[in-house]
Amino acid sequence: MPVVADFQPSPTKCWTEGVPLFWRNSCVGYNVQKNASRQVAFDDAANTLSRAFTKWTGASCPTEGTGRSRVSIDVRDLGPVECGEVKYNQSGGNQNVIVFRDGKWPHEASNNTLALTTVTFNPETGEIYDADMEVNTFDQRVTLTDPVPSDGYDFASIATHEAGHFLGLAHSGDNRATMFANYTPGATAMRNLTADDVAGVCSVYRPDGARAVLEGKVTPGPQCDPTPRRGFTTECADADAAKKGCSISSSSHGASGAPPTAGWALAAASLAFVVRARRRRLRAVPARRVC
Ligand SMILES: [Zn+2]
Repeated sequence: MPVVADFQPSPTKCWTEGVPLFWRNSCVGYNVQKNASRQVAFDDAANTLSRAFTKWTGASCPTEGTGRSRVSIDVRDLGPVECGEVKYNQSGGNQNVIVFRDGKWPHEASNNTLALTTVTFNPETGEIYDADMEVNTFDQRVTLTDPVPSDGYDFASIATHEAGHFLGLAHSGDNRATMFANYTPGATAMRNLTADDVAGVCSVYRPDGARAVLEGKVTPGPQCDPTPRRGFTTECADADAAKKGCSISSSSHGASGAPPTAGWALAAASLAFVVRARRRRLRAVPARRVC
């Protein structure tokens, strides 16, 4: 069940301790970078990503009464943006961007990495502040065709896997799951969630709206507001402003549980210390590991 943030599949360990990551609000937004890719046109990217997120947000979970009920998270496409930077700006507007890297893959292991999602979160509570997704169209053949060519990688599968990370899920050790870390060329299985994936998203976004955290429970705001934390901007954050935000010094930590007004002020002063980014990549290796 892929709910623990630090989980990595291995032959001997299927589960480790860690803070589950979650979006606090009942709605979250994303933006596709306007240039999309030579391999994936903007409209195709937007449509495929929308369907990928809907796989997760349409998941139905068992409830304590009879029957099942939908997860308590919605994901909205907020339109194209200029900015293609993976970044969380602590002192101004943001966008949860989905960007294709056609010209260069700016990370290690380009030859066996399909995509990378960077999630910025509060390590004390697990609350996600920002998520950005990069797709490696520089070094990999990413395709929309059906059937998928034997040397190509299915964008719908990649999008569904990365959407799981965007929502805070880690990798699963179940080699049939969408959240398994490795992907085989030509395959399409990751387009569809397995019971393991559904159990994961249901444990984080319970139908009753509560978010399970280490101490107590966090209830999302009453309204659906997909605006990014600290506001929305289509442009990249100003470097000087971001730097200024990072230079604020404070020994205070997480604001979870504090009264709303004080909480926001405290969080703004302590973000440089509590925010961490975690990256997860989907690898293009046919090898299967068994958990
Ligand atoms: Zn992954």
